[in-house]
Amino acid sequence: MNNSALYLDNNATSPLRPAVIQAMTAAMGPPANPSSVHGFGREARMIVETARTNVAALAGCRAADVVFTSGGTEANNLALRQFSQVISSAVEHDSVRSVGGQQIGVDANGIIDLDALALVIAAVDEADKARTIISVMAANNETGVIQPIEEIVEMARAANIACHSDMVQVLGKTHIDFAASGLSYASLSAHKIGGPAGVGALLVRPGCGLASLIKGGGQEQGRRSGTENLLGIAGFGAAASDAFADIGHYVKMAGWRNAFEDRMMAERDGVKVLGRDVPRLANTCCIAAAGKSAETMVMAFDIAGIAVSAGAACSSGKVKSSHVLEAMGAGVAAGEAIRISGGWANSAKDFEMLADVFLRLYKQSA
Ligand code: PLP
Repeated sequence: MNNSALYLDNNATSPLRPAVIQAMTAAMGPPANPSSVHGFGREARMIVETARTNVAALAGCRAADVVFTSGGTEANNLALRQFSQVISSAVEHDSVRSVGGQQIGVDANGIIDLDALALVIAAVDEADKARTIISVMAANNETGVIQPIEEIVEMARAANIACHSDMVQVLGKTHIDFAASGLSYASLSAHKIGGPAGVGALLVRPGCGLASLIKGGGQEQGRRSGTENLLGIAGFGAAASDAFADIGHYVKMAGWRNAFEDRMMAERDGVKVLGRDVPRLANTCCIAAAGKSAETMVMAFDIAGIAVSAGAACSSGKVKSSHVLEAMGAGVAAGEAIRISGGWANSAKDFEMLADVFLRLYKQSA
């Protein structure tokens, strides 16, 4: 039983929205294989296609460009494993890092070094270009720092190289226009926007090929086999629809988050906010206070009833050192930084409560 009363770890996962629970509950029960031709199957197909339309609306693309997957991890693998050469950044999610390839460094704010990227692009042989892809995340899960995707797409386009972006953390928090972006592929995940875990999507620009990773019955127009996760997809669609209506929430959240950071920096010495000088997601704050280990502070927050995290959440439940903060050259702050991430259910009051607890905890143990 979790004793945390206030959940501020939405970049790890977010609570299910009420409309999601409703949509998933409604889809539960009848036999539902969307490929079946009978009435049950047609009903299931309608749920899948409605969800596809909702996800497409949130991501700014055609419904036909949405390929449902088991999540962001699979979407990243599906896009990238078609290519023999992957150029990415040093701060990508492990599902991109696991593919290997060249990783471009970032500056102290976590922004990719565009000059270094240009050099690596220039070194790609003409003959290898069709087998090469650039993959840079739209925003980082630990710091919220937003990458210059427009410039990166333009560099990729000029070199005639495909370009992918992991948009898992930006979805629902800022407007996305995949169709206008020039990206070849983008990855999404449902559980960061109030949908269920275990479902996501890869967006595929018309004209860009897709070699399926999971082969079998030919679902998703032969691009991703396996009977569709109907409940998950129903939940993703409902989450997308709610998130579309709710984007203004994050404009307000930027104000709540900034007020929290301003107060912490004014009232405590040695407080540092990573990535504060560059564009960031409205919901994320990666904050370090000198002399306090992140692991100890996450536990102290938990006892005080607030769920936050340190570094990236790890499958073993243990906190491992953050490759993101290391790539930023954060030094000792890497071991002290905690991540606070708001979501659809959080309010201004939550950030005020967070501020009070933060000041108390960091004073007590000073
Ligand atoms: N990409 C980023 C930036 C993420 O934050 C995550 C989740 O932590 C993923 C990909 C993986 O998504 P999923 O959990 O749906 O596999």
